[in-house]
Amino acid sequence: MPLSRDVDRPTYEIVGELSRFDERDTLFSRERLVPGSPEERAYHAAYPELVEIDRRIAAFIETVSRPEESVSQADAALYSATFDPIAGLALPDVVDGQVAPTRVEAGPGEMAGRIKPLARWLGADDVRIGPLNPAWVYSHRGAPPFFAGYQSNPPHFSGLPEDYRGLQWGDPIEVPHRYAISMAFAQDRDLLRTGGTPFSDFEIGRAYALGALVATQLAAYIRALGWPARAHHLRNYGVAVVPVALDAGLGELGRCGYLIHPRLGANLRLACVTTDLPLALDPPVDLGIQDFCARCLKCAVNCPSGAIPKGDKVVVRGVRKWRIDPVKCLLYWAHLGSACAICQTICPWSRPPTLLRRIMTQIASHVPPARRFLIWADDLVYGARFRPAPPPAWSR
Ligand code: SF4
Ligand code: SF4
Repeated sequence: MPLSRDVDRPTYEIVGELSRFDERDTLFSRERLVPGSPEERAYHAAYPELVEIDRRIAAFIETVSRPEESVSQADAALYSATFDPIAGLALPDVVDGQVAPTRVEAGPGEMAGRIKPLARWLGADDVRIGPLNPAWVYSHRGAPPFFAGYQSNPPHFSGLPEDYRGLQWGDPIEVPHRYAISMAFAQDRDLLRTGGTPFSDFEIGRAYALGALVATQLAAYIRALGWPARAHHLRNYGVAVVPVALDAGLGELGRCGYLIHPRLGANLRLACVTTDLPLALDPPVDLGIQDFCARCLKCAVNCPSGAIPKGDKVVVRGVRKWRIDPVKCLLYWAHLGSACAICQTICPWSRPPTLLRRIMTQIASHVPPARRFLIWADDLVYGARFRPAPPPAWSR
């Protein structure tokens, strides 16, 4: 029996007109606005109510970007190793670039049958292909890897390279492709369970880095076949990767705001490649997550910041879903001095891939009345409350 059921449309509910999201409005874009810069003044003139909160978030990022001042040199080295190289994979000529003048032609099924094993061989833990809904393309650039004229841009590069030709803050984004190849990258459960120590951060960075590398490699491969392709990853998104992955059937949207994958649960990071290469599409899936999350609440109860709602879904830009409060989440990270990730590790769907886990997932997906029992059983086996794991011996 498969872990999930194929369905005609994704299980998130569209109840109004979808509108494109402006990347400048994300917290990870706002925290990079340097006080006094033209961009910062323009943004906060439009949103004066965000000045104070953005300063607090920026102070946190500033601390994290100088780990040598808050953690040991060995830990700072791990932070650099996992996160810093990703910015190099964000350059315009790396995520996108020249397309070969001649095309390799093949049917959509044959092409999909070539692309998916290739993505897995490169390092993706799962890969699915879906249509690219233009509503999931960001409207404006908010977080380029370089900020023009800035003295520093921690934790990435300093200043702007002389020949940088990429989009800058506020530039409109266009991604004209028809298809999106979505990929999941698993995180090490033991490292993530150290939540509240720098090691969960390092593991998140490692998964993001692998996603960036694989996405740029896959996009380069497709361009060499003669078809346009663009990689989207942590340091250079043109699309919102979560709804794109939902449309490809990589999983379902959970209460915690993460995509829940049938095998990996919430314990993953995403990257994707958009392209016009003709590809056979995968259907969206139904794992029963909407009903499961309505009963479960485990992430919301364990979230130390109260960022995950315990109540009902609300409508956000045309989609009914559980709305996470990213400000509460990031301010908690600021308090910790590192990422938290408790919601990703505590989720019953994120348990290790044992035979028992596979059986329980199948029951959860296909037998709705059993879900309440499975939530109770997860509490019994793994505990109702988050218990942090110690950092691994090698890291000490
Ligand atoms: S990362 Fe931590 S603080 Fe943020 S939503 Fe998840 S559990 Fe809450
Ligand atoms: S912990 Fe429970 S409520 Fe939260 S995302 Fe996972 S299944 Fe849904």
